[in-house]
Amino acid sequence: MAAHVLALLSRPSLEAPGDADAPAWVFVDPESPQLTALDLGATRGDGIFESISVNHGRAQALEHHLRRFAKSAAMLELPAPDLDAWRAAILAVIDQLAPGDSEAFVKTVLTRGIEYGDRPTGWAYGALSPSFEAARADGISVVILDRGYRHDVEQTSPWLLAGAKTLSYAVNRAVAREAVRRGADDVVFVSSDGIILEGPTSTVVYRRDGALYSPGTGLGILDGTTQANVFRWAESLGMPTAFELTTPELLRSADAAWLVSSVRLAAPLRALDGAPMPVDAEFTSRMNDWLKALDD
Ligand code: PLP
Repeated sequence: MAAHVLALLSRPSLEAPGDADAPAWVFVDPESPQLTALDLGATRGDGIFESISVNHGRAQALEHHLRRFAKSAAMLELPAPDLDAWRAAILAVIDQLAPGDSEAFVKTVLTRGIEYGDRPTGWAYGALSPSFEAARADGISVVILDRGYRHDVEQTSPWLLAGAKTLSYAVNRAVAREAVRRGADDVVFVSSDGIILEGPTSTVVYRRDGALYSPGTGLGILDGTTQANVFRWAESLGMPTAFELTTPELLRSADAAWLVSSVRLAAPLRALDGAPMPVDAEFTSRMNDWLKALDD
């Protein structure tokens, strides 16, 4: 098993795409420097990414992640990624990593490349995941923070790129520090007009009267791959699922709620703004076992 693996798909110094002999990607030493100081991904956060769970050596929700990668690229007006090349590189990274039954992840990144250059920079990086068993089993304490946008920001102001998975995650990291200052583990964003949105790295899912709900798309939030799979699982059990506009009051009245995401999977909310939330440990553990066993 390799500690970590890096495949470069595009970089100013690599051969230009379109060269008949140019490989779609090359493996490079993940310990050696690869980015230039001029890369717009590093200097401006101008790029996109995906984090893909790998369980039992299989990439989870790979096609959904690739679709979302292409959608983010289109929203940022980046060159459309060649999804066949990215899929092959991701699978090759997993193959090299050989994680066995350990949980792992692959992160794909595409930046605008260097300033005034004509090529994006792209790579796929794989490594073993840290353990999230404590968050999955014991739950997380969450605070609701105002994102400062209305819930219709995607329609009114598409230039804000809400709903694209961009590299500009400084805000998503800042809110995690704010959560810690408030004695919590994580955050749920609410829109300035009072609609529950998403976590900084996760989707909100909750259960009420035997049905599962999530805020849905079109609210300037990411179309979550894990949420889609959690709904698939619930439907396979005969549970109704639906998207609905949710308020903090509605979320507080749920009989269980989770932040779901690739890599950490489903983390139950044990407290919301300091008030205890019911945790259904058995249901959560079945949900996570199903997510870990997925083979597509
Ligand atoms: N929302 C945001 C802002 C995220 O960054 C993420 C994942 O990183 C998600 C939602 C959950 O998406 P997924 O389940 O596809 O990992």
